[in-house]
Amino acid sequence: MIVYGPVPSRRLGRSIGINNIPPKVCSYSCPYCQLGRTNTMQIKRVAFHNPEDILKEAEAKLEQLAAENIVADYFSFVPDGEPTLDINLGTEIRMLKPMGVKIAVISNASLLWMEDVMEDLMQADWVSVSIDAADEKTWKRINRPHGLLKHREVLDGIARFAKDYKGVLVSETMLVDGINDNIGTIGGIAEILGEIKPAKAYLLVPARPPAENWVKRASRESLSMAVGIIRGKSGISVECITGDEEEEGFFFSEDIANDLMGITSVHPVRESVMNRLIEKRNIDGSIITELVNQGKISELYYEGRKYYRKNTNAGQGK
Ligand code: SF4
Repeated sequence: MIVYGPVPSRRLGRSIGINNIPPKVCSYSCPYCQLGRTNTMQIKRVAFHNPEDILKEAEAKLEQLAAENIVADYFSFVPDGEPTLDINLGTEIRMLKPMGVKIAVISNASLLWMEDVMEDLMQADWVSVSIDAADEKTWKRINRPHGLLKHREVLDGIARFAKDYKGVLVSETMLVDGINDNIGTIGGIAEILGEIKPAKAYLLVPARPPAENWVKRASRESLSMAVGIIRGKSGISVECITGDEEEEGFFFSEDIANDLMGITSVHPVRESVMNRLIEKRNIDGSIITELVNQGKISELYYEGRKYYRKNTNAGQGK
């Protein structure tokens, strides 16, 4: 299953996810990543799936939703890794567009200096780029990039893309306690944002189990300082996403196990949210224990709460 959800999203409304990358292939290995550590670090774009298969799954998903009178707001490429590593991304966007649902891509933006990546993202309606650092040293700590990436080149790629892009560009900055939540780093990020002028700058904190257990969310004080600095320096609209906002309203079809695998693959789900879903849909709760016993999903703890996440060795898509 490559197409999952829809997943409720504060930024994108009701969003059908496209998981176009196998777990977990990325150009970064961010210590805060909710998908765990990166298994395969790469910057070479390759084909992972047949675009026709993605199209077929997307059509089936829309049919399934139509039968329940549900309208999706976006197809969003939010995969098990970095979506622009998929060499067919542009083709997939072109194939999905005629279906009349807007297309979003959430990218770490590390490959935007490549002309073909830029061309592919130009076709999306909404693009989010990550900007977690303003200097190379912080970038290496917060994103742990592939060795061949150059920070200057990454920032230049984002700036060039922002200049020509006609869709909605937003930025995403993850603030981690003691790494990038200091006044100097935030000031530098504010300057970059002032240049690229996203429609909105989203500030996030690690709200789900991170890849490294030393990662802690930035404090409320740091977050409000960041909001003030970024608004003040760049004049950009800033919004904070601190975690619990996006966890209600997951869509489940008759194939609950498959849906759970799809959602927990890219989005660890809190136990209390899962319990509410089980109750609301009158589902047999033992399905969770079964998936855990089969080694398909894992239980994780973060900030005193239990989460479920798909095991990366449980196979792509589930
Ligand atoms: S947070 Fe995104 S960019 Fe960072 S390692 Fe995870 S998938 Fe890659």
